Amino acid sequence: MTLPADSHVHSEWSWDTGGPHSHAVGRMRATCAQAVRIGLPALFFTEHLDIPDTWHAEPEDLMPHQQGFLNDAGRVDFAPLDADGYFDAIDRMRHDFPDLRIHTGVEFGQPHLFGAQATEIIDLSLIDRVLGSLHTLDLGGGAAEPRTLFREHDPAVVMRAYLEQVPVMVQGSDAFEVFTHIDYAVRSWPTEAVGPFDPRVFEEEFRAAMRSIAESGRALEMNTRRLWSWIPQWWAEEGGATVSIGSDAHTPDAIAANFPEATAMLEHFGFGPGSVAEELWARSRPL
Ligand SMILES: [Zn+2]
Ligand SMILES: [Zn+2]
Repeated sequence: MTLPADSHVHSEWSWDTGGPHSHAVGRMRATCAQAVRIGLPALFFTEHLDIPDTWHAEPEDLMPHQQGFLNDAGRVDFAPLDADGYFDAIDRMRHDFPDLRIHTGVEFGQPHLFGAQATEIIDLSLIDRVLGSLHTLDLGGGAAEPRTLFREHDPAVVMRAYLEQVPVMVQGSDAFEVFTHIDYAVRSWPTEAVGPFDPRVFEEEFRAAMRSIAESGRALEMNTRRLWSWIPQWWAEEGGATVSIGSDAHTPDAIAANFPEATAMLEHFGFGPGSVAEELWARSRPL
């Protein structure tokens, strides 16, 4: 079977890889080469569209190569996406890898809060796929990532606040078409402190968040970094019609990670491919 497009890929043009002046330079090219090697027909380079200096963190919350982004105020600060540089790089890759279909994209963080700032960074109408991500939220002490908030608050409170923010983001922005990694807070769940994450404890909240995304007509991302069968199951049951499939690769070796398992799972829950690899997968039969 033909692999679907990887619809969530980062390169040196994303600040969190280190950025376009870091050790990450060359990752876009290496990612294209890897895609050709494994037979991936198409991908979207969905670079981070985040607004600098808008959330706080502790050094331990950041990977070693990101710690230089922490400013004196304890906030994460970096050069915003270089749209011109990114578009130039995409053009070069399209020229150098004619057999790979290369599409533009951004992963827009907190689009409901930063619509105006984003338009100063990049013209979203030029972008093939806009992902919407909820990476940070404010529980009263300023915005932070879940991994930071889990240390500052009761983890269950953080998880519920995160999921309650999903409909707020959905209703607060038309800029994105796919809601990414709804399990984002699950990735940093403090298992050592409170035990393994049990999705059933938060089932109602997850379902309500999914319902809001489905009712807005948007797609939910099947983030293949971690495969949870309850995500496509609850998404289908709450009326979700389409899914986007993305690895969230930040390194070339991680593109299309777990795609065979992810697509098998999606087919099990009634989703199937369109006529081209770039198309969102749609519900082809009822549950
Ligand atoms: Zn993300
Ligand atoms: Zn990402």
